[in-house]
Amino acid sequence: MSGSAAKKTLGKGLQSPAARFKLEIPDMRFTADLHIHSKFSRATSRDMVLDTLAYWAKVKGLRLIATGDFTHPEWLFLMKEKLKPSGNGFFEFKNAVLPPEDPYLRAIPFSAKDVSFILSTELSFIYSKAGKVRKIHVMLLAPDFESVERINGRLSSIGNLRSDGRPILGLDVRLFCRMVAETCPRSVVIPSHIWTPWFSLFGANSGFDTIEECFEEMTPMIFALETGLSSDPPMNWRLSALDRFALVSNSDAHSPSKLGREANVFDTEFSYRGLMDALRKRDPAKFLHTVEFFPEEGKYHYDGHRKCGIVLAPRESLKANDLCPKCGKPLTIGVLHRVEELADRESGEGVPGRVPFRNLIPLNEIVAEALGRTPESQAVWDVYFKLIREHGDEFAVLSDVPIADLARTGPERVALGIDRMRQGRVKIDPGHDGEYGVISLFGDEPVGEPAAAQLTLF
Ligand SMILES: [Zn+2]
Ligand SMILES: [Zn+2]
Ligand SMILES: [Zn+2]
Repeated sequence: MSGSAAKKTLGKGLQSPAARFKLEIPDMRFTADLHIHSKFSRATSRDMVLDTLAYWAKVKGLRLIATGDFTHPEWLFLMKEKLKPSGNGFFEFKNAVLPPEDPYLRAIPFSAKDVSFILSTELSFIYSKAGKVRKIHVMLLAPDFESVERINGRLSSIGNLRSDGRPILGLDVRLFCRMVAETCPRSVVIPSHIWTPWFSLFGANSGFDTIEECFEEMTPMIFALETGLSSDPPMNWRLSALDRFALVSNSDAHSPSKLGREANVFDTEFSYRGLMDALRKRDPAKFLHTVEFFPEEGKYHYDGHRKCGIVLAPRESLKANDLCPKCGKPLTIGVLHRVEELADRESGEGVPGRVPFRNLIPLNEIVAEALGRTPESQAVWDVYFKLIREHGDEFAVLSDVPIADLARTGPERVALGIDRMRQGRVKIDPGHDGEYGVISLFGDEPVGEPAAAQLTLF
């Protein structure tokens, strides 16, 4: 799916180091996940290492993935040991990649050239501004190790970069932006999951109401925002203040199988410059679409109290004065509520010139529901990897391969689930207060039900 549809032939100039002339890099279609974490971040899988990540990227259909965590000295050491610059601002393996122990992954045809990396990290800023404690996560992307070294050098005098792959800094994020602009002007700052209540730009608990309040004179430096799992583009389109920003979607994966659960699809020059240019211009011919969760599936879509078993839509919590009807304490205000608060457009109001999007459900979740198993069970991965081996990668299975072909690979009920997802025929109990939403494609239909009768396509 992320195959290269080269429009021009690749010039030999690409091989020459630090070319003095402008390189001719052909446009190609590729899918990118720009926000992940390594095993050096808290609460991540120990499989978050470069080789395993690359294999999973191939399985998912990602051509470009973030390294994550470049502020962490040990991770940076491993990155430098394994990766080399490709000459386009991205990075590739120096040597052949060690096949992972996992037999499913070993069976995937993989070459070290199949997946490239973009240098990235995420930082958590906790500081006080205008009489309120602010907690904001931002991503930082960089084109070369020199930029990374310079910024790490500056940051290591401010916080402990070794303690966590996503370090906490007691610094105003505006001053951080100024530091980035001074030390590595080609680096790009993207506020992460901008709507989550606890750690984000617009977070109900510790964020701001406008981008300008947060970044002040550094605001022009920001040209992209990450919408996060609990919000989708139409929710963000309700704020005219966000019109000038590219809306990106990433997995924020903490384990390899979660890679690409949200992603960005481009048809542009495969380079750091090409990627940033496509984001800056928001040209739908180059930034084709984003891949999104159904936002209700995200952990903070609705309001609620997980411990009290309370889930409320924004208008219901407004009636309850944002207090929990069970324990009387303030509710955790979700993303939809916060969007309603700041929106100046009605839901569904047309806004022209938008980068489109596609709602997908992770394939292992669809298989799990179809089989009546849990998403991480052996039976589910058996079916999952059979589909991948047969049809290429997860994005292809979810959005491109004809349903009849999927049904032939089987089980038919999985094909039926994918068909329903493509039509948007899903039922979701919205996520709230840190609990993921529960998505359903089959409702109460028993697992044994033959699917063939419902698959009317062939
Ligand atoms: Zn974050
Ligand atoms: Zn993150
Ligand atoms: Zn409560």
